[in-house]
Order: sequence, then structure tokens, then C-alpha cells
Amino acid sequence: MTALAALMMLASCGRETASEGPLASHVIVIGLDGWGSWCMEKGEYPFIKETMQEGAWTLDKRTMRPSISGANWAAMMNGTPVEFSGITGNEDHPTFTPILLTEHGNQPTFFHVLKKERPEARTGVVCEWGDFLNYADTLCLDYYKRIEDPEGHPDAIVTESVKFIQEQKPELCFIHIDALDHMGHSYGQGSAEYYAELPLVDDRVRRIVEGIKDAGIYDDSIIILTSDHGHYQTGHGGDTDLEITTPLLVWGKGVKKNHPIKETVIQMDLAATVARILNLPQPQSWRGKVIEVFE
Ligand SMILES: [Zn+2]
Repeated sequence: MTALAALMMLASCGRETASEGPLASHVIVIGLDGWGSWCMEKGEYPFIKETMQEGAWTLDKRTMRPSISGANWAAMMNGTPVEFSGITGNEDHPTFTPILLTEHGNQPTFFHVLKKERPEARTGVVCEWGDFLNYADTLCLDYYKRIEDPEGHPDAIVTESVKFIQEQKPELCFIHIDALDHMGHSYGQGSAEYYAELPLVDDRVRRIVEGIKDAGIYDDSIIILTSDHGHYQTGHGGDTDLEITTPLLVWGKGVKKNHPIKETVIQMDLAATVARILNLPQPQSWRGKVIEVFE
């Protein structure tokens, strides 16, 4: 290679890096606990259905094993296989020695990476399941709130999430809604009660999205709607398709519209995808792949 060719290569590499940049300024992840893909054939979810035309989606996303909440919400945020993280269930600590820990004693979550790269970026979690916070690394959150008695106050998740988004316009926010999981545990997969809850949860998602629009950040946001696991009868944690298959829907700035995702997707791909959107480096321990949904 001549000196000139080497110089041109360097220059072109430099340009590529510089032109990559963030794909959007804000990422809002909305997680519906226990939203199994099984309910998408017969269920009523008008807002989500309409939004699928606006974005990219799959009904074949896989859970991490076991199909338990903690292990799966954790993998979405830390991009790491459970074999590395030791987060194998709903415990508030790893059940075996993790391969890597940050200075906070956690896996590096996408909140951690964002705060390290851009300390001024605002981060937050609003959740109905308090244990969710065990996996987020709260030392990297500017704001976090657990909704008390969500069954008694089903609208609080909407009000509190919208309030946070409008006041702080976060770069990265995770909202967790528990109602479907509760119906799955109380009445079972396929129950009338679960199906009755689905349009109510759909409407909560709609109102949160309205709130993002009212905050004035919608056009510069990418929204990800997904779940941790499905159900088998009144439980989960096993390997049936009903438990291990959940939807994922991505829409917003620069995301392909009406695009069925053909590639394989697993929970930890979420962290890699959020890192790509916000132009963050992936920690070496991450193993997720960027989901190919961008134009
Ligand atoms: Zn769950």
C-alpha cells in the first residue's frame, strides 16, 4: 500500500466514524411484563396494531433461559448472557460469580454506558414491579419511581411516566407495566381476564406515547415496546413456546415502517440496539446484536 492509499483509508475511516453519530436523541423503552406473542392472534390491541404499521416488529423474539422476569429484564438492559451475569431469576443478586462488575457492583447496563459517555444525559425508570430496579443500576439513574399498588392505581404508570418525560425529556427511559403478568398469574394464559386486560394496557401505552408527543421530543425519539416472557398456564420459567416467545416493536425516527423483522432477536439485542441508537460503545462483555430496523 502506498503512503497515499494509507492516508486515504485513514481519512475515509475517519469520515465513516464521524458520520455515524446517534440515530435519535431519545430512546423510550416500554416493557409489558408477561406479554406473550400467543395473545397477538386473537387479542385486541388497536394502538399497538396501528403502530406496527409505523415501525418494525417481530413476534418471535426469544427470552433468555429461564423465562423469568429478572433474568430477562436484566439481559435487555445489560446486553449480557446469564452465563456471564449470573442473573438467573428474580433474586436481587447474581446466583453465581459474575464474570465482570462495574464500580457499582453491577453488570454494565445501557444506563451505565450512557452516563459514562455523557454524564449530562438524563436517565430514568418508572416501574410497577419494584424488583425491576435491582437490574437497572439505580446509581446511573437521574430518576426512578416504583408505582405503589398498581392494581389499585392502574393509571399511575401513565401519569408518572408522562410527568417524568415532560419534565426531564430523558435521553433514555424504561417504563415497566405489570398488569398482563398479573392476569397471567391469576387467571392463566389464554384466559378471558388476560384478553380483557390487553386493550387496557394498549391504551396505557397509547397515552404514554401521547405524553412523549406533548413533551415535544417524539420526532427525535425511538420507542421500543417489548416483554420479558409469556406464560404457560398460570406460570412461566419453563421452555414452552408460550413462555419463551414475546413481541418486539420498534418505531420512531429513521426506523423502517411496516417492516416485519426477519432476523433472529433475543433479549440482549435490546441493549446493543439502544447503544447503536444513542451512539454508545458496547462493553466488551456484551453479546447482543443491533436489531436491523433502521432505514
Ligand atoms: Zn415477568
